[in-house]
Amino acid sequence: MRAFLSRRVVTPGKIQPAAILIEGEQIASVVPPNEVPAGAEVHDFREAAILPGLVDTHVHINDPGRADWEGFESATRAAAAGGCTMLVDMPLNCVPATTSVSGLERKRAAARGRCRVDWASWGGVVPDNQNDIAALAAAGVRGFKCFLVHSGVDSFTMLTERQLKAALPRVAQTGLPLLVHAELPPAIDHAHRDLEQADWRSYGTYLRSRPDEAELSAIRLLVSLCRRYQFRLHIVHLSTSRALGELRAARSQGLPVTAETCPHYLYLTSETIANGATLNKCAPPVRSRQNREQLWQGLREETIDLIATDHSPCPAQMKHMDEGSFKTAWGGIASLSLALPLIWTEASQRGSSLLDIARWMAEGPARLAGCHMRKAQIAAGYDADLVVFDPQSEFLVSKERLYYRHPLSPYLGEKLRGVVKATYLRGNLVFADGQFPGAPTGREFRL
Ligand SMILES: [Zn+2]
Repeated sequence: MRAFLSRRVVTPGKIQPAAILIEGEQIASVVPPNEVPAGAEVHDFREAAILPGLVDTHVHINDPGRADWEGFESATRAAAAGGCTMLVDMPLNCVPATTSVSGLERKRAAARGRCRVDWASWGGVVPDNQNDIAALAAAGVRGFKCFLVHSGVDSFTMLTERQLKAALPRVAQTGLPLLVHAELPPAIDHAHRDLEQADWRSYGTYLRSRPDEAELSAIRLLVSLCRRYQFRLHIVHLSTSRALGELRAARSQGLPVTAETCPHYLYLTSETIANGATLNKCAPPVRSRQNREQLWQGLREETIDLIATDHSPCPAQMKHMDEGSFKTAWGGIASLSLALPLIWTEASQRGSSLLDIARWMAEGPARLAGCHMRKAQIAAGYDADLVVFDPQSEFLVSKERLYYRHPLSPYLGEKLRGVVKATYLRGNLVFADGQFPGAPTGREFRL
């Protein structure tokens, strides 16, 4: 038996001095520090906090098929370095897309023996795969993802309202959540028509091209469909704070609606994005400082349930940094290895605690992905997925600290607070002080 000691163990609802007793891959119990059984192998982390391993439910691993953009090896390495012990992969950027069981099997083959952390898949809902929905659920996807606007990948087709309505009874029957990219085309198309002659090197042009209204109208439609079809609705990457009222109202009516936001919406602001700085491009876009503050408020009051990265990497040339056009650059921000310090830097300045971090970045996402009975809590019977985190130290973001395949980041040079010292996956050390010891031991989460 091993005993991990710390003055700040983050257990459900409490930060306390404790010893985590680990037997094999699981937590056997959590006891006061003076009750460590004789003969246990003791690791004393002293002032460093121990949090449950983070769960990131919004990651584009791009493997198989676009492993030159990311891949299981590099994505799970970056996750381990970021204190994250489970990823859930989005179904669209891989080839084939995860829209059928055979696609899922191809993904499993690509992942085998190459993962530093555990992983699972979302299945895709596209116009022509309604008959695959039940089979994908039975085969082990954690839920589904669809788009109401062009996905960025031509082979993963968006749904019209009519196609969405046709799919919803089947999704509802699985009992699994439907994750939706909530922007509707009309407001975006309208804005684009007005911006044809605009300066697309200007971030303001890009911001105007994806107005709040596109998100707001999609969320209104989705909430009304949720009321009618009673499926579990999850809004991914909420960017506009103007939708918080709709979400609050839906929840108060008892509808099964959840929402996530992302580190970039909680850290960056449109006012400070320079012209041509396409590393900041994502959809929906990073909005104003005031909007950012309201998203933080949404998290505090639990209208927003969780934080996921939407880690969406690409090779450098796709960001068109020489040209600096927000029209042609690929949209997506990679942040797997930085999410915890990014959020902690901002959260600690706003009076939030490591308990909030555990709720937003471990428990909330684990519940969404249906792995909360084994993951994301420091408690007896749970997987010994742990992150040792020094919440006081600061560091400058450099390329060496990114660990994913293409070291691109809008955060390079930023001073962040909080350092991931070590990450344990089911009791095994998978990251410590810049190293990834041992062979990859990550596996797919299956019930
Ligand atoms: Zn995404």
